Amino acid sequence: MAVSFFQFKLEELGQYLESYGEKKFRAQQLFRWIYGLKQFDYEEMTNVSKSFRQLLPQLLNLELPHIVNVRSSQDGTRKYLFEVGEGETVEAVLIPGNNRRQTLCLSSEVGCNMACKFCFTGKQKLKRRLSTQQIVGQFVRVMLDQPEDEPITNIVYMGMGEPLDNTDAVLSASEILHNSWGVNLSRKKITVSTSGLVPQIPLVTQAGLRLAVSLNAPNDELRTQIMPINKKYPLAELIASCKEHSRKSKDKVTMEYVLLKDFNDSIDHAKQLMYLLRDVPSKINIIPFNEHPDSGFGRPSEEKIQAFQNFLISKNVHVLRRRTMGRDIYAACGQLTSAYKNHPISMTI
Ligand code: SAH
Ligand code: SF4
Repeated sequence: MAVSFFQFKLEELGQYLESYGEKKFRAQQLFRWIYGLKQFDYEEMTNVSKSFRQLLPQLLNLELPHIVNVRSSQDGTRKYLFEVGEGETVEAVLIPGNNRRQTLCLSSEVGCNMACKFCFTGKQKLKRRLSTQQIVGQFVRVMLDQPEDEPITNIVYMGMGEPLDNTDAVLSASEILHNSWGVNLSRKKITVSTSGLVPQIPLVTQAGLRLAVSLNAPNDELRTQIMPINKKYPLAELIASCKEHSRKSKDKVTMEYVLLKDFNDSIDHAKQLMYLLRDVPSKINIIPFNEHPDSGFGRPSEEKIQAFQNFLISKNVHVLRRRTMGRDIYAACGQLTSAYKNHPISMTI
Protein backbone atom coordinates (compact mmCIF):
# COMPACT_ATOMS: atom_id res chain seq x y z
CA MET A 1 0.00 0.00 0.00
CA ALA A 2 1.21 3.51 -0.76
CA VAL A 3 2.68 5.32 2.24
CA SER A 4 2.97 9.08 2.73
CA PHE A 5 5.78 10.78 0.81
CA PHE A 6 5.79 13.55 3.43
CA GLN A 7 7.05 11.34 6.25
CA PHE A 8 10.47 10.75 4.69
CA LYS A 9 13.75 12.56 5.06
CA LEU A 10 15.76 12.39 1.83
CA GLU A 11 17.96 9.55 3.05
CA GLU A 12 14.98 7.54 4.27
CA LEU A 13 13.15 8.02 0.97
CA GLY A 14 16.23 6.79 -0.88
CA GLN A 15 16.25 3.64 1.25
CA TYR A 16 12.55 3.10 0.78
CA LEU A 17 12.87 3.38 -2.99
CA GLU A 18 15.91 1.11 -2.99
CA SER A 19 13.89 -1.55 -1.23
CA TYR A 20 11.69 -1.55 -4.38
CA GLY A 21 14.74 -1.88 -6.62
CA GLU A 22 14.87 1.80 -7.57
CA LYS A 23 17.97 4.01 -7.60
CA LYS A 24 18.56 6.15 -4.55
CA PHE A 25 18.89 9.37 -6.54
CA ARG A 26 15.20 9.13 -7.43
CA ALA A 27 14.61 10.52 -3.95
CA GLN A 28 16.36 13.75 -4.94
CA GLN A 29 14.26 13.98 -8.08
CA LEU A 30 11.06 13.56 -6.10
CA PHE A 31 12.12 16.16 -3.52
CA ARG A 32 12.86 18.58 -6.35
CA TRP A 33 9.57 18.01 -8.15
CA ILE A 34 7.29 18.02 -5.15
CA TYR A 35 8.80 20.44 -2.63
CA GLY A 36 10.79 22.53 -5.11
CA LEU A 37 8.59 22.74 -8.20
CA LYS A 38 5.27 21.97 -6.51
CA GLN A 39 4.48 19.36 -9.12
CA PHE A 40 2.15 16.77 -7.62
CA ASP A 41 1.29 14.90 -10.80
CA TYR A 42 3.69 11.98 -11.25
CA GLU A 43 2.93 11.89 -14.98
CA GLU A 44 4.43 15.39 -15.36
CA MET A 45 7.77 14.41 -13.86
CA THR A 46 9.54 14.35 -17.16
CA ASN A 47 13.01 13.26 -16.09
CA VAL A 48 11.64 10.18 -14.38
CA SER A 49 11.35 6.96 -16.41
CA LYS A 50 7.89 5.96 -17.52
CA SER A 51 7.99 2.66 -15.68
CA PHE A 52 8.91 4.41 -12.41
CA ARG A 53 6.21 7.01 -12.94
CA GLN A 54 3.67 4.24 -13.25
CA LEU A 55 4.91 2.51 -10.13
CA LEU A 56 4.94 5.66 -7.98
CA PRO A 57 1.24 5.84 -7.07
CA GLN A 58 1.54 2.39 -5.52
CA LEU A 59 4.58 3.40 -3.46
CA LEU A 60 3.89 6.94 -2.32
CA ASN A 61 0.78 8.97 -1.72
CA LEU A 62 0.83 12.76 -1.72
CA GLU A 63 -2.12 13.33 0.58
CA LEU A 64 -2.04 16.48 2.70
CA PRO A 65 -4.03 17.37 5.82
CA HIS A 66 -7.46 18.60 4.87
CA ILE A 67 -8.14 22.32 5.39
CA VAL A 68 -11.34 22.75 7.39
CA ASN A 69 -11.29 26.53 7.46
CA VAL A 70 -9.13 29.53 6.54
CA ARG A 71 -9.56 32.95 8.11
CA SER A 72 -7.82 36.17 7.15
CA SER A 73 -7.12 39.02 9.52
CA GLN A 74 -7.20 42.69 8.63
CA ASP A 75 -3.46 42.78 9.26
CA GLY A 76 -2.74 40.10 6.63
CA THR A 77 -2.34 37.19 9.05
CA ARG A 78 -3.97 33.98 7.82
CA LYS A 79 -5.09 31.16 10.06
CA TYR A 80 -5.60 27.62 8.78
CA LEU A 81 -7.56 24.96 10.59
CA PHE A 82 -6.41 21.47 9.59
CA GLU A 83 -8.03 18.13 10.17
CA VAL A 84 -5.47 15.62 11.41
CA GLY A 85 -7.61 12.49 11.63
CA GLU A 86 -10.37 11.18 13.88
CA GLY A 87 -12.04 14.56 13.89
CA GLU A 88 -9.08 16.25 15.58
CA THR A 89 -7.89 19.60 14.30
CA VAL A 90 -4.88 21.90 14.69
CA GLU A 91 -4.16 25.44 13.60
CA ALA A 92 -1.27 27.00 11.70
CA VAL A 93 -0.83 30.73 11.23
CA LEU A 94 0.92 32.59 8.41
CA ILE A 95 2.24 35.97 9.53
CA PRO A 96 3.54 38.53 7.04
CA GLY A 97 6.44 40.69 8.22
CA ASN A 98 8.91 43.30 7.01
CA ASN A 99 11.32 42.71 4.15
CA ARG A 100 9.17 40.08 2.45
CA ARG A 101 9.27 37.88 5.50
CA GLN A 102 6.47 35.31 5.70
CA THR A 103 6.56 33.36 8.94
CA LEU A 104 4.59 30.18 9.31
CA CYS A 105 3.69 29.22 12.87
CA LEU A 106 3.25 25.44 13.00
CA SER A 107 1.51 23.18 15.49
CA SER A 108 3.25 20.09 16.81
CA GLU A 109 0.51 18.51 18.92
CA VAL A 110 -3.25 18.41 19.41
CA GLY A 111 -3.62 19.99 22.85
CA CYS A 112 -0.66 20.21 25.22
CA ASN A 113 0.20 18.52 28.50
CA MET A 114 2.29 21.38 29.89
CA ALA A 115 -0.82 23.09 31.25
CA CYS A 116 0.59 26.62 31.40
CA LYS A 117 -2.07 28.64 33.20
CA PHE A 118 -2.23 31.56 30.74
CA CYS A 119 -2.41 29.53 27.51
CA PHE A 120 -5.57 28.56 25.66
CA THR A 121 -3.97 25.46 24.13
CA GLY A 122 -2.85 24.37 27.59
CA LYS A 123 -6.45 24.07 28.72
CA GLN A 124 -6.80 21.09 26.49
CA LYS A 125 -4.95 18.00 27.60
CA LEU A 126 -2.70 16.40 25.03
CA LYS A 127 -4.80 14.39 22.61
CA ARG A 128 -2.21 13.49 20.04
CA ARG A 129 1.34 14.12 18.92
CA LEU A 130 1.43 15.01 15.23
CA SER A 131 3.37 12.80 12.84
CA THR A 132 6.21 14.12 10.69
CA GLN A 133 3.94 14.08 7.68
CA GLN A 134 1.26 16.10 9.46
CA ILE A 135 3.80 18.77 10.38
CA VAL A 136 5.33 18.85 6.89
CA GLY A 137 1.77 18.69 5.52
CA GLN A 138 0.76 21.94 7.26
CA PHE A 139 3.73 23.66 5.63
CA VAL A 140 3.14 22.24 2.15
CA ARG A 141 -0.56 23.11 2.17
CA VAL A 142 0.15 26.73 3.05
CA MET A 143 3.07 26.83 0.59
CA LEU A 144 0.71 25.79 -2.22
CA ASP A 145 -1.62 28.63 -1.22
CA GLN A 146 1.08 31.29 -1.43
CA PRO A 147 1.71 33.39 -4.55
CA GLU A 148 4.99 32.48 -6.30
CA ASP A 149 6.66 35.73 -5.23
CA GLU A 150 5.65 35.45 -1.56
CA PRO A 151 7.27 32.23 -0.36
CA ILE A 152 7.29 31.17 3.28
CA THR A 153 10.67 32.35 4.61
CA ASN A 154 10.59 31.29 8.28
CA ILE A 155 9.09 28.59 10.46
CA VAL A 156 8.37 28.89 14.15
CA TYR A 157 7.04 26.01 16.26
CA MET A 158 4.87 28.31 18.30
CA GLY A 159 1.48 26.93 17.39
CA MET A 160 -0.33 24.33 19.42
CA GLY A 161 1.65 21.89 21.51
CA GLU A 162 5.07 21.58 23.03
CA PRO A 163 7.50 20.76 20.19
CA LEU A 164 10.02 19.13 22.53
CA ASP A 165 7.31 16.76 23.74
CA ASN A 166 7.26 15.52 20.12
CA THR A 167 10.92 15.99 19.31
CA ASP A 168 11.46 13.23 16.75
CA ALA A 169 8.66 14.38 14.45
CA VAL A 170 9.54 18.06 14.83
CA LEU A 171 13.22 17.48 14.03
CA SER A 172 12.45 15.17 11.08
CA ALA A 173 10.00 17.67 9.63
CA SER A 174 12.57 20.45 10.04
CA GLU A 175 15.24 18.40 8.30
CA ILE A 176 12.87 17.66 5.42
CA LEU A 177 12.00 21.33 4.99
CA HIS A 178 15.66 22.28 5.22
CA ASN A 179 16.82 19.87 2.51
CA SER A 180 18.32 21.74 -0.43
CA TRP A 181 16.69 19.46 -3.03
CA GLY A 182 13.32 20.57 -1.76
CA VAL A 183 12.11 23.64 0.13
CA ASN A 184 15.69 24.59 1.02
CA LEU A 185 14.90 26.60 4.14
CA SER A 186 17.99 27.53 6.14
CA ARG A 187 18.18 25.87 9.56
CA LYS A 188 18.59 29.31 11.07
CA LYS A 189 15.14 30.23 9.78
CA ILE A 190 13.54 27.49 11.84
CA THR A 191 12.84 28.25 15.50
CA VAL A 192 11.78 25.72 18.09
CA SER A 193 9.98 27.32 21.03
CA THR A 194 9.87 25.35 24.27
CA SER A 195 8.35 25.81 27.68
CA GLY A 196 11.62 24.35 29.03
CA LEU A 197 12.02 20.60 28.52
CA VAL A 198 15.66 20.81 29.48
CA PRO A 199 16.84 17.29 28.49
CA GLN A 200 15.63 17.85 24.90
CA ILE A 201 17.33 21.20 24.34
CA PRO A 202 20.69 19.70 23.21
CA LEU A 203 18.81 18.00 20.37
CA VAL A 204 17.77 21.40 19.06
CA THR A 205 21.41 22.49 19.26
CA GLN A 206 22.59 19.38 17.38
CA ALA A 207 19.95 19.93 14.71
CA GLY A 208 21.29 23.46 14.12
CA LEU A 209 17.91 25.10 14.70
CA ARG A 210 17.19 28.30 16.59
CA LEU A 211 15.94 28.09 20.15
CA ALA A 212 13.25 30.14 21.84
CA VAL A 213 12.29 29.60 25.47
CA SER A 214 9.02 30.62 27.05
CA LEU A 215 10.45 32.12 30.20
CA ASN A 216 7.46 34.20 31.28
CA ALA A 217 8.68 34.86 34.81
CA PRO A 218 11.90 36.16 36.37
CA ASN A 219 12.08 33.78 39.35
CA ASP A 220 11.15 30.21 40.27
CA GLU A 221 8.34 31.17 42.59
CA LEU A 222 6.36 33.04 39.94
CA ARG A 223 7.28 30.68 37.14
CA THR A 224 6.07 27.62 39.02
CA GLN A 225 2.73 29.31 39.60
CA ILE A 226 2.03 29.65 35.87
CA MET A 227 4.18 26.90 34.33
CA PRO A 228 4.07 23.51 36.12
CA ILE A 229 7.09 22.31 34.08
CA ASN A 230 9.21 24.63 36.22
CA LYS A 231 8.90 22.22 39.14
CA LYS A 232 10.62 19.53 37.13
CA TYR A 233 13.20 21.77 35.45
CA PRO A 234 13.72 24.92 37.51
CA LEU A 235 15.30 28.08 36.17
CA ALA A 236 18.88 27.27 37.15
CA GLU A 237 18.81 24.17 34.93
CA LEU A 238 16.95 25.90 32.14
CA ILE A 239 19.31 28.86 32.07
CA ALA A 240 22.36 26.57 32.12
CA SER A 241 21.04 24.67 29.13
CA CYS A 242 20.33 27.93 27.25
CA LYS A 243 23.89 29.03 27.85
CA GLU A 244 25.15 25.74 26.51
CA HIS A 245 22.98 26.08 23.41
CA SER A 246 24.27 29.56 22.80
CA ARG A 247 27.89 28.55 23.34
CA LYS A 248 27.66 25.71 20.85
CA SER A 249 25.43 27.34 18.24
CA LYS A 250 26.90 30.85 18.58
CA ASP A 251 23.29 32.03 18.44
CA LYS A 252 21.30 34.10 20.84
CA VAL A 253 18.39 32.37 22.55
CA THR A 254 15.06 34.17 22.24
CA MET A 255 13.48 34.53 25.68
CA GLU A 256 9.72 34.90 25.35
CA TYR A 257 8.10 36.79 28.17
CA VAL A 258 4.31 37.00 28.23
CA LEU A 259 3.41 40.13 30.16
CA LEU A 260 0.57 39.41 32.58
CA LYS A 261 -1.14 42.23 34.37
CA ASP A 262 -0.09 42.66 38.01
CA PHE A 263 1.71 39.33 37.92
CA ASN A 264 5.08 39.73 36.20
CA ASP A 265 4.92 43.24 34.74
CA SER A 266 6.59 45.53 37.32
CA ILE A 267 9.94 47.29 37.03
CA ASP A 268 11.19 45.09 39.82
CA HIS A 269 10.34 42.03 37.69
CA ALA A 270 12.20 43.62 34.78
CA LYS A 271 15.25 44.06 37.05
CA GLN A 272 15.11 40.44 38.14
CA LEU A 273 14.80 39.37 34.52
CA MET A 274 17.83 41.39 33.54
CA TYR A 275 19.79 39.83 36.39
CA LEU A 276 18.65 36.31 35.51
CA LEU A 277 19.82 36.71 31.93
CA ARG A 278 22.95 38.70 32.70
CA ASP A 279 25.32 36.16 31.18
CA VAL A 280 23.08 34.36 28.70
CA PRO A 281 23.51 35.51 25.08
CA SER A 282 19.85 36.22 24.47
CA LYS A 283 17.21 38.63 23.35
CA ILE A 284 13.96 39.16 25.16
CA ASN A 285 10.72 39.04 23.25
CA ILE A 286 7.91 40.71 25.17
CA ILE A 287 4.47 39.36 24.33
CA PRO A 288 1.62 41.33 25.86
CA PHE A 289 -0.94 38.78 27.03
CA ASN A 290 -3.68 37.97 24.53
CA GLU A 291 -6.98 37.48 26.23
CA HIS A 292 -9.15 34.41 25.93
CA PRO A 293 -12.24 33.33 27.83
CA ASP A 294 -11.87 32.42 31.52
CA SER A 295 -8.10 32.73 31.60
CA GLY A 296 -8.07 34.66 34.84
CA PHE A 297 -5.27 36.88 33.50
CA GLY A 298 -5.31 40.35 32.01
CA ARG A 299 -3.22 42.35 29.57
CA PRO A 300 -1.24 45.15 31.22
CA SER A 301 -1.98 48.73 30.22
CA GLU A 302 -0.04 50.20 27.32
CA GLU A 303 1.93 52.42 29.75
CA LYS A 304 2.89 49.43 31.85
CA ILE A 305 4.05 47.47 28.79
CA GLN A 306 6.12 50.37 27.57
CA ALA A 307 7.62 51.09 30.96
CA PHE A 308 8.72 47.47 31.24
CA GLN A 309 10.30 47.54 27.80
CA ASN A 310 11.88 50.98 28.26
CA PHE A 311 13.49 49.97 31.51
CA LEU A 312 15.24 47.07 29.78
CA ILE A 313 16.23 49.25 26.83
CA SER A 314 17.72 51.80 29.23
CA LYS A 315 19.90 49.00 30.64
CA ASN A 316 21.08 48.03 27.15
CA VAL A 317 19.21 44.75 27.21
CA HIS A 318 18.28 43.46 23.75
CA VAL A 319 14.51 43.53 23.94
CA LEU A 320 11.77 43.53 21.33
CA ARG A 321 8.05 43.68 21.64
CA ARG A 322 6.27 41.10 19.56
CA ARG A 323 3.68 42.70 17.36
CA THR A 324 0.30 41.26 18.12
CA MET A 325 -0.95 39.80 14.86
CA GLY A 326 -4.24 38.22 14.00
CA ARG A 327 -6.08 39.03 17.21
CA ASP A 328 -9.27 39.74 15.28
CA ILE A 329 -9.31 36.15 14.03
CA TYR A 330 -8.14 34.67 17.31
CA ALA A 331 -4.80 33.70 15.82
CA ALA A 332 -2.42 35.48 18.19
CA CYS A 333 0.06 33.71 20.50
CA GLY A 334 -1.66 31.43 22.95
CA GLN A 335 -5.08 31.74 21.36
CA LEU A 336 -4.99 28.63 19.21
CA THR A 337 -7.14 25.66 19.97
CA SER A 338 -8.56 22.60 18.36
CA ALA A 339 -11.86 22.83 20.19
CA TYR A 340 -13.35 24.22 17.04
CA LYS A 341 -16.96 24.10 18.11
CA ASN A 342 -16.27 26.18 21.19
CA HIS A 343 -13.91 28.50 19.46
CA PRO A 344 -15.03 32.10 19.20
CA ILE A 345 -15.30 32.98 15.53
CA SER A 346 -14.12 36.46 16.23
CA MET A 347 -13.35 38.57 19.24
CA THR A 348 -13.24 42.27 19.60
CA ILE A 349 -10.79 43.23 22.28
N1 SAH B 1 4.70 25.18 23.62
C1 SAH B 1 5.68 26.06 23.13
C2 SAH B 1 5.29 26.75 21.86
C3 SAH B 1 3.88 27.26 21.73
S1 SAH B 1 3.38 28.61 22.70
C4 SAH B 1 6.07 27.07 24.18
O1 SAH B 1 5.37 27.19 25.17
O2 SAH B 1 7.10 27.71 23.99
C5 SAH B 1 4.11 30.02 21.90
C6 SAH B 1 4.27 31.23 22.83
O3 SAH B 1 3.00 31.82 23.13
C7 SAH B 1 4.91 30.90 24.15
O4 SAH B 1 6.01 31.77 24.38
C8 SAH B 1 3.82 31.19 25.17
O5 SAH B 1 4.38 31.63 26.39
C9 SAH B 1 3.01 32.25 24.46
N2 SAH B 1 1.63 32.37 24.93
C10 SAH B 1 0.82 31.38 25.37
N3 SAH B 1 -0.39 31.88 25.69
C11 SAH B 1 -0.34 33.21 25.45
C12 SAH B 1 -1.30 34.26 25.55
N4 SAH B 1 -2.53 34.02 25.95
N5 SAH B 1 -0.91 35.51 25.21
C13 SAH B 1 0.33 35.73 24.75
N6 SAH B 1 1.26 34.77 24.60
C14 SAH B 1 0.94 33.52 24.95
FE1 SF4 C 1 1.78 24.16 25.92
FE2 SF4 C 1 3.32 26.22 25.13
FE3 SF4 C 1 0.74 26.59 25.82
FE4 SF4 C 1 2.53 25.99 27.69
S1 SF4 C 1 2.51 27.85 26.43
S2 SF4 C 1 0.47 25.07 27.48
S3 SF4 C 1 3.86 24.59 26.59
S4 SF4 C 1 1.48 25.41 24.09
